[in-house]
Amino acid sequence: MMAAGERTIHRKAKDYRWEGVEELPYKEDDRALFKSITRQVLFCDPELQSELRYFEMAAGGFSSLERHQHMHAVLILRGRGHCLVGDEVRPVETRDLVTVPAMTWHQFRATRGEPLGFLCMVNAARDKPQLPSAEDLAKLKADATIAAFLRNEPT
Ligand code: MN
Repeated sequence: MMAAGERTIHRKAKDYRWEGVEELPYKEDDRALFKSITRQVLFCDPELQSELRYFEMAAGGFSSLERHQHMHAVLILRGRGHCLVGDEVRPVETRDLVTVPAMTWHQFRATRGEPLGFLCMVNAARDKPQLPSAEDLAKLKADATIAAFLRNEPT
């Protein structure tokens, strides 16, 4: 995969891009529901055993609702939005840190007015995300705040 390992410095470019770093589709997996989101792999050297990616969703965009064995360490770098982690919906904004533990449902949503961009650190070797079953969704939606979040209503 194209990443920032082949030269020492990749200078910042316009709009949260970096020179020589490709902007990629969010996922190859078409099963997942997501909207208006791009991915850049900033660091993926095998020596690191981890990857640092930058994801950005346009205003009103969202990442897929998923869980997996690997965890995420997230630094919000741009804009604001809300995230669901486990059974909590929280507003997030630039420079907030979000920890997503193993096997915890999570999703990020940009506000309607501005994009939401974040750095996300993960293990290089990691399991595939699981998507919620109808039963999982029903359980999540039993919480009114989570239900409103999933309907993309401002909270
Ligand atoms: Mn994830």
